[in-house]
Amino acid sequence: MTAVELPGAVRERVRSAERVVVFSGAGVSRESGLDTFRGAGGLWERMRPEELATPEAFRADPEKVWQWYAWRYQRVAEASPNPAHQAIARLEAVFPFIIVVTQNVDSLHRRVGSRNLLELHGSLARAFCNRCGRSRDMGEAIAESPGAPPICTCGGKFRPGVVWFGESLPEETFEQACEAAASCELFLSAGTSATVYPAAGLIELAHRAGACLIEINPEPTPFSGLMDLRLAAPAGEALPALADAMERCRWPTT
Ligand SMILES: [Zn+2]
Repeated sequence: MTAVELPGAVRERVRSAERVVVFSGAGVSRESGLDTFRGAGGLWERMRPEELATPEAFRADPEKVWQWYAWRYQRVAEASPNPAHQAIARLEAVFPFIIVVTQNVDSLHRRVGSRNLLELHGSLARAFCNRCGRSRDMGEAIAESPGAPPICTCGGKFRPGVVWFGESLPEETFEQACEAAASCELFLSAGTSATVYPAAGLIELAHRAGACLIEINPEPTPFSGLMDLRLAAPAGEALPALADAMERCRWPTT
Protein backbone atom coordinates (compact mmCIF):
# COMPACT_ATOMS: atom_id res chain seq x y z
CA MET A 1 0.00 0.00 0.00
CA THR A 2 1.56 3.28 -1.10
CA ALA A 3 -0.36 6.22 0.34
CA VAL A 4 -3.69 6.71 2.07
CA GLU A 5 -5.92 9.59 0.99
CA LEU A 6 -8.27 10.56 3.80
CA PRO A 7 -11.78 11.44 2.55
CA GLY A 8 -12.70 15.05 3.33
CA ALA A 9 -15.10 14.23 6.18
CA VAL A 10 -12.55 11.93 7.81
CA ARG A 11 -9.83 14.54 7.41
CA GLU A 12 -11.93 17.04 9.38
CA ARG A 13 -12.45 14.54 12.18
CA VAL A 14 -8.77 13.56 12.28
CA ARG A 15 -7.80 17.21 12.41
CA SER A 16 -10.02 17.96 15.43
CA ALA A 17 -9.81 14.67 17.37
CA GLU A 18 -8.42 14.87 20.90
CA ARG A 19 -9.26 11.41 22.17
CA VAL A 20 -8.37 8.38 20.07
CA VAL A 21 -8.85 4.68 20.66
CA VAL A 22 -6.91 2.04 18.73
CA PHE A 23 -8.45 -1.41 19.01
CA SER A 24 -6.02 -4.10 17.88
CA GLY A 25 -6.32 -7.80 17.19
CA ALA A 26 -4.26 -10.73 15.98
CA GLY A 27 -3.71 -9.19 12.52
CA VAL A 28 -1.51 -6.52 14.09
CA SER A 29 0.95 -9.16 15.28
CA ARG A 30 0.80 -11.19 12.07
CA GLU A 31 3.98 -9.74 10.57
CA SER A 32 5.78 -10.53 13.82
CA GLY A 33 4.93 -14.17 13.12
CA LEU A 34 2.47 -14.39 15.99
CA ASP A 35 -0.95 -14.49 14.36
CA THR A 36 -1.11 -18.17 15.12
CA PHE A 37 0.94 -20.39 17.34
CA ARG A 38 0.71 -23.27 14.96
CA GLY A 39 2.91 -24.19 12.05
CA ALA A 40 6.23 -23.52 13.76
CA GLY A 41 7.09 -27.18 13.82
CA GLY A 42 7.82 -29.48 16.68
CA LEU A 43 5.86 -30.92 19.53
CA TRP A 44 3.12 -28.31 19.75
CA GLU A 45 2.36 -27.86 16.08
CA ARG A 46 -0.79 -29.89 16.09
CA MET A 47 -2.19 -28.55 19.36
CA ARG A 48 -5.37 -26.51 19.16
CA PRO A 49 -5.48 -23.45 21.47
CA GLU A 50 -9.10 -24.28 22.26
CA GLU A 51 -7.94 -27.54 23.83
CA LEU A 52 -5.23 -26.01 26.02
CA ALA A 53 -6.38 -22.49 26.80
CA THR A 54 -9.15 -23.41 29.22
CA PRO A 55 -9.47 -23.73 33.01
CA GLU A 56 -10.56 -27.35 32.47
CA ALA A 57 -7.35 -28.19 30.59
CA PHE A 58 -5.25 -26.62 33.37
CA ARG A 59 -7.07 -28.64 36.01
CA ALA A 60 -6.78 -31.88 34.03
CA ASP A 61 -3.14 -31.54 32.98
CA PRO A 62 -1.39 -28.49 34.50
CA GLU A 63 2.07 -29.64 33.32
CA LYS A 64 1.01 -29.85 29.69
CA VAL A 65 -0.71 -26.45 29.74
CA TRP A 66 2.26 -24.85 31.53
CA GLN A 67 4.75 -26.28 29.03
CA TRP A 68 2.66 -25.04 26.11
CA TYR A 69 2.62 -21.55 27.56
CA ALA A 70 6.36 -21.72 28.26
CA TRP A 71 6.80 -22.47 24.54
CA ARG A 72 4.50 -19.61 23.53
CA TYR A 73 6.31 -17.26 25.94
CA GLN A 74 9.58 -18.17 24.25
CA ARG A 75 8.16 -17.51 20.76
CA VAL A 76 6.88 -14.09 21.85
CA ALA A 77 10.22 -13.26 23.51
CA GLU A 78 11.97 -14.01 20.21
CA ALA A 79 9.49 -11.99 18.12
CA SER A 80 9.89 -8.30 17.33
CA PRO A 81 7.29 -5.55 17.00
CA ASN A 82 6.47 -4.86 13.33
CA PRO A 83 5.57 -1.69 11.36
CA ALA A 84 1.94 -1.94 12.56
CA HIS A 85 2.97 -1.66 16.24
CA GLN A 86 5.43 1.10 15.37
CA ALA A 87 2.78 3.10 13.47
CA ILE A 88 0.34 2.86 16.40
CA ALA A 89 3.03 4.01 18.84
CA ARG A 90 3.86 6.90 16.47
CA LEU A 91 0.25 8.15 16.74
CA GLU A 92 0.89 9.01 20.40
CA ALA A 93 2.78 12.06 19.21
CA VAL A 94 0.01 13.02 16.79
CA PHE A 95 -3.02 13.14 19.12
CA PRO A 96 -3.34 14.62 22.64
CA PHE A 97 -4.70 11.40 24.13
CA ILE A 98 -4.56 7.91 22.68
CA ILE A 99 -5.34 4.61 24.29
CA VAL A 100 -4.54 1.22 22.77
CA VAL A 101 -7.00 -1.55 23.57
CA THR A 102 -5.62 -4.89 22.46
CA GLN A 103 -6.89 -8.43 22.25
CA ASN A 104 -3.29 -9.63 21.91
CA VAL A 105 -1.36 -11.13 24.82
CA ASP A 106 2.13 -10.70 23.34
CA SER A 107 3.05 -7.30 24.90
CA LEU A 108 4.44 -6.08 21.57
CA HIS A 109 2.57 -2.76 21.88
CA ARG A 110 4.29 -2.23 25.23
CA ARG A 111 7.70 -3.18 23.85
CA VAL A 112 7.43 -0.64 21.05
CA GLY A 113 6.49 2.13 23.45
CA SER A 114 2.67 2.44 23.57
CA ARG A 115 2.06 3.77 27.06
CA ASN A 116 -1.73 3.79 27.52
CA LEU A 117 -2.37 0.12 26.94
CA LEU A 118 -5.34 -2.00 27.98
CA GLU A 119 -4.77 -5.73 27.50
CA LEU A 120 -8.29 -7.16 27.33
CA HIS A 121 -7.13 -10.77 27.19
CA GLY A 122 -4.31 -10.41 29.71
CA SER A 123 -0.64 -10.90 29.01
CA LEU A 124 1.83 -13.74 28.57
CA ALA A 125 4.34 -11.62 30.50
CA ARG A 126 2.63 -12.27 33.85
CA ALA A 127 1.61 -15.34 35.82
CA PHE A 128 -0.75 -15.41 38.77
CA CYS A 129 -1.68 -17.85 41.50
CA ASN A 130 -4.94 -19.67 40.84
CA ARG A 131 -5.76 -19.60 44.56
CA CYS A 132 -4.64 -16.28 46.11
CA GLY A 133 -4.17 -14.25 42.91
CA ARG A 134 -0.56 -13.25 43.62
CA SER A 135 1.09 -12.06 40.41
CA ARG A 136 4.67 -12.56 39.24
CA ASP A 137 6.84 -12.31 36.15
CA MET A 138 6.12 -15.19 33.74
CA GLY A 139 9.72 -15.43 32.52
CA GLU A 140 11.00 -15.88 36.05
CA ALA A 141 8.29 -18.43 36.80
CA ILE A 142 9.24 -20.46 33.72
CA ALA A 143 12.97 -20.23 34.52
CA GLU A 144 12.26 -21.50 38.02
CA SER A 145 10.01 -24.32 36.86
CA PRO A 146 9.92 -25.00 33.10
CA GLY A 147 8.09 -28.30 33.26
CA ALA A 148 5.24 -27.64 35.69
CA PRO A 149 3.47 -24.64 37.20
CA PRO A 150 5.41 -23.29 40.20
CA ILE A 151 3.65 -23.65 43.54
CA CYS A 152 2.74 -20.47 45.40
CA THR A 153 3.44 -20.01 49.12
CA CYS A 154 -0.32 -20.43 49.66
CA GLY A 155 -0.21 -23.86 48.01
CA GLY A 156 -1.94 -22.73 44.80
CA LYS A 157 -0.49 -23.09 41.31
CA PHE A 158 0.78 -20.26 39.14
CA ARG A 159 -1.01 -20.01 35.79
CA PRO A 160 -0.44 -17.79 32.76
CA GLY A 161 -1.89 -14.28 33.07
CA VAL A 162 -4.12 -14.64 30.02
CA VAL A 163 -7.88 -14.90 29.71
CA TRP A 164 -8.85 -18.44 28.80
CA PHE A 165 -11.79 -19.62 26.75
CA GLY A 166 -14.85 -19.60 28.99
CA GLU A 167 -13.44 -16.93 31.34
CA SER A 168 -14.66 -13.37 31.54
CA LEU A 169 -12.50 -10.38 30.68
CA PRO A 170 -10.74 -8.55 33.53
CA GLU A 171 -13.57 -6.34 34.77
CA GLU A 172 -11.69 -3.13 35.50
CA THR A 173 -9.73 -3.26 32.26
CA PHE A 174 -12.89 -3.85 30.24
CA GLU A 175 -14.67 -0.97 31.98
CA GLN A 176 -11.78 1.36 31.18
CA ALA A 177 -11.91 0.23 27.56
CA CYS A 178 -15.68 0.88 27.41
CA GLU A 179 -15.23 4.37 28.89
CA ALA A 180 -12.49 5.13 26.39
CA ALA A 181 -14.61 3.92 23.45
CA ALA A 182 -17.67 5.84 24.63
CA SER A 183 -15.74 9.10 24.92
CA CYS A 184 -13.42 9.06 21.90
CA GLU A 185 -13.72 11.09 18.70
CA LEU A 186 -11.72 8.70 16.56
CA PHE A 187 -11.84 4.92 16.79
CA LEU A 188 -9.41 2.83 14.82
CA SER A 189 -10.02 -0.93 14.57
CA ALA A 190 -6.97 -2.79 13.28
CA GLY A 191 -6.32 -6.42 12.46
CA THR A 192 -9.40 -7.84 14.08
CA SER A 193 -12.34 -9.71 12.62
CA ALA A 194 -14.39 -7.99 15.36
CA THR A 195 -16.43 -11.11 15.97
CA VAL A 196 -15.32 -11.81 19.55
CA TYR A 197 -17.77 -10.41 22.08
CA PRO A 198 -17.79 -8.53 24.33
CA ALA A 199 -14.66 -6.91 22.91
CA ALA A 200 -16.32 -6.15 19.59
CA GLY A 201 -18.99 -4.22 21.49
CA LEU A 202 -16.42 -1.45 21.85
CA ILE A 203 -16.94 -0.58 18.19
CA GLU A 204 -20.67 -0.21 18.84
CA LEU A 205 -19.99 2.02 21.85
CA ALA A 206 -17.75 4.28 19.77
CA HIS A 207 -20.32 4.35 16.97
CA ARG A 208 -23.11 5.33 19.36
CA ALA A 209 -20.85 8.05 20.78
CA GLY A 210 -20.55 9.51 17.28
CA ALA A 211 -16.86 8.74 16.83
CA CYS A 212 -15.27 8.66 13.40
CA LEU A 213 -14.65 4.95 12.68
CA ILE A 214 -11.74 3.57 10.69
CA GLU A 215 -11.17 -0.10 9.99
CA ILE A 216 -8.04 -1.85 8.80
CA ASN A 217 -8.56 -5.49 7.93
CA PRO A 218 -8.02 -7.49 4.75
CA GLU A 219 -11.49 -9.04 4.98
CA PRO A 220 -14.76 -7.25 5.72
CA THR A 221 -16.08 -7.50 9.29
CA PRO A 222 -19.62 -7.31 10.69
CA PHE A 223 -18.95 -3.61 11.31
CA SER A 224 -17.54 -2.66 7.91
CA GLY A 225 -20.81 -0.98 6.94
CA LEU A 226 -20.50 1.47 9.85
CA MET A 227 -17.01 2.61 8.94
CA ASP A 228 -16.17 6.12 7.78
CA LEU A 229 -13.02 4.71 6.20
CA ARG A 230 -12.09 1.13 5.49
CA LEU A 231 -8.63 -0.01 4.39
CA ALA A 232 -8.71 -3.56 3.04
CA ALA A 233 -5.06 -4.39 3.65
CA PRO A 234 -2.80 -6.08 6.20
CA ALA A 235 -2.11 -3.97 9.30
CA GLY A 236 1.64 -3.88 8.69
CA GLU A 237 1.07 -2.15 5.33
CA ALA A 238 -1.98 -0.02 5.99
CA LEU A 239 -1.14 1.36 9.45
CA PRO A 240 2.15 3.07 8.50
CA ALA A 241 0.41 4.63 5.46
CA LEU A 242 -2.52 5.74 7.63
CA ALA A 243 -0.19 7.19 10.29
CA ASP A 244 1.58 9.14 7.52
CA ALA A 245 -1.75 10.53 6.30
CA MET A 246 -2.78 11.48 9.83
CA GLU A 247 0.54 13.24 10.43
CA ARG A 248 0.11 15.21 7.19
CA CYS A 249 -3.39 16.13 8.29
CA ARG A 250 -2.43 17.22 11.83
CA TRP A 251 0.90 18.77 10.90
CA PRO A 252 0.17 20.33 7.48
CA THR A 253 3.52 22.08 7.24
CA THR A 254 5.58 18.90 7.26
ZN1 LIG B 1 -1.10 -18.14 46.10
